[in-house]
Amino acid sequence: MTRPILLQGGHVIDPSRDVDGVADVLIQDGKIASVGRGLTAPDGALVRNVKGRVVTPGLVDLHVHLREPGNEDEETVASGARAAAAGGFTAVCAMPNTDPVTDNQAAVGFIVRQSGRAGLARVHPIGAVSIGQKGERLAEFGEMVSAGAVAVSDDGKPVVSSHLMRTRLGLKGIPAAAEEIMVARDVLLAELTGGHVHLCHMSARGSVAIIREAKERGIRVTAEVTPHHLTLTDHACEEYDTHAKMNPPLREAADVAALRGALKDGVIDCIASDHAPHSYDEKEAAFDDAPFGVVGLETAFAVAHTELVESGLFTLPELIRRMSTEPARVFHLAGGTLAPGAVADVAVFDASAKWAVDPTAFHSKSRNTPFAGRALTGRAVLTIVGGAIVHDLDHSGTR
Ligand SMILES: [Zn+2]
Repeated sequence: MTRPILLQGGHVIDPSRDVDGVADVLIQDGKIASVGRGLTAPDGALVRNVKGRVVTPGLVDLHVHLREPGNEDEETVASGARAAAAGGFTAVCAMPNTDPVTDNQAAVGFIVRQSGRAGLARVHPIGAVSIGQKGERLAEFGEMVSAGAVAVSDDGKPVVSSHLMRTRLGLKGIPAAAEEIMVARDVLLAELTGGHVHLCHMSARGSVAIIREAKERGIRVTAEVTPHHLTLTDHACEEYDTHAKMNPPLREAADVAALRGALKDGVIDCIASDHAPHSYDEKEAAFDDAPFGVVGLETAFAVAHTELVESGLFTLPELIRRMSTEPARVFHLAGGTLAPGAVADVAVFDASAKWAVDPTAFHSKSRNTPFAGRALTGRAVLTIVGGAIVHDLDHSGTR
């Protein structure tokens, strides 16, 4: 059993219950025991003064790539879970495009075991839709779900066959050139089957319009957007910086504005990092040859906080809703709330901390970020998973 923890005097933001004010949070037996003023610490409790800091449900990321098995030099389940904890994330969902592909019960079970062994942020596996992500034969969803998969996706290799997408557990990626067509198709299939489709990394304003209409018609569709698509435009690629090469690509200012508006009003449900580690050598290639993707777990909160909250566009509770409460709801994950009785997945932020992104300081094994050197505001100082401290910036060395 972990020691009880009393977080004293923090600014508690819990969008699941519209809590936004100063309070203590008591954690006991891995659960939220109570939230309120003047709570007393039980015997043996660790008491932490978090005055001036923000206490929230831990962030939840529905879309990361952790490269294990197959490319452990770029990331492992453990290093990804460590990077997640450092970024204030208590749970992440790992995409199945590993080597071999996570397309069966044993492969899903491997990720679950590696996550448990690391004991950091929770890593929930996402199973592949098709065997080997070849888009031909369906994988065994039932077996993967019973082993711990929380969704299925062929992210990165979009499901081309509409027939294959007629499932109740659809989740997939979208090629840049055809994003709107794929979004429209998936929305129609969700309507036809009554299934839930979650649309990954939306980047185009036309997609936003389709999702808005689908939601108005009551179709079960949810969507995510990355911090980079919310904050960068195609200008970031002008110097042929391969760290700005991602799929879907960065687009125009009008797209960024539409994505921000859609996130604000809930047409897009949540922010997901699409954390995609790549080795230095791979990204040193010519722009056309370099792989797609950027790392994001250790910059996601600060980038979103600096660009959306400091700019006055979002309130901090609105941002926490989009990075914790809503993603947990979309995939029916524990967390996303500080309600008494809920699992004690908690993050504490210093919302005024100013820092510059130094990729060499990342816990991730990869450094491919378009935000290197960027001055940001806001940082996770304490991350708690199931009542255990997994990241502690003030007392580094804890883990
Ligand atoms: Zn991805």
